[in-house]
Amino acid sequence: MATNRTFTMIKPDAVAAGNIGGITKMIEEAGFRIVAMKYTKLTAELAGKFYEVHAERPFYGELVTYMSSGPIVAAILEKDNAVADFRTLIGATNPAEAAEGTIRKIYATSIAANAVHGSDSDDNAAIEGNFYFSQLERF
Ligand code: UDP
Ligand code: MG
Repeated sequence: MATNRTFTMIKPDAVAAGNIGGITKMIEEAGFRIVAMKYTKLTAELAGKFYEVHAERPFYGELVTYMSSGPIVAAILEKDNAVADFRTLIGATNPAEAAEGTIRKIYATSIAANAVHGSDSDDNAAIEGNFYFSQLERF
């Protein structure tokens, strides 16, 4: 399993606000190579499956509704130390706590509508990338 890859989604709020380009530019300028990329929309069922790990948390229902509310951009990204470096680039879950210059500080509007997803481990990066992309869709 490649350990130099991570997985991201540009979430519905950021897509709706016209920020695909701005966020993708920040990702590329930070040194990530786009290995796979897809503009798509989750059903509630698929969003529920993607976030299954959060099923017991109080925000799960709202999260599933939100993540299936509009189109997203899913992508696999490659870079040395990809998972940790991407979490640094996106900033804290709550944009009010995100560091200056991070994607969430710039583009997120709330703790729920926080512009981007970033995998939290190499294992989850592989699981999440496999959720969206087949082998033939990775370059
Ligand atoms: N979330 C939310 N309310 C919270 C915490 C999280 O709506 O109190 C949403 C938010 O969109 C977040 C996602 O659930 O990105 C997953 O939560 P996690 O704790 O994994 O944060 P992340 O890894 O995305 O920073
Ligand atoms: Mg997480």
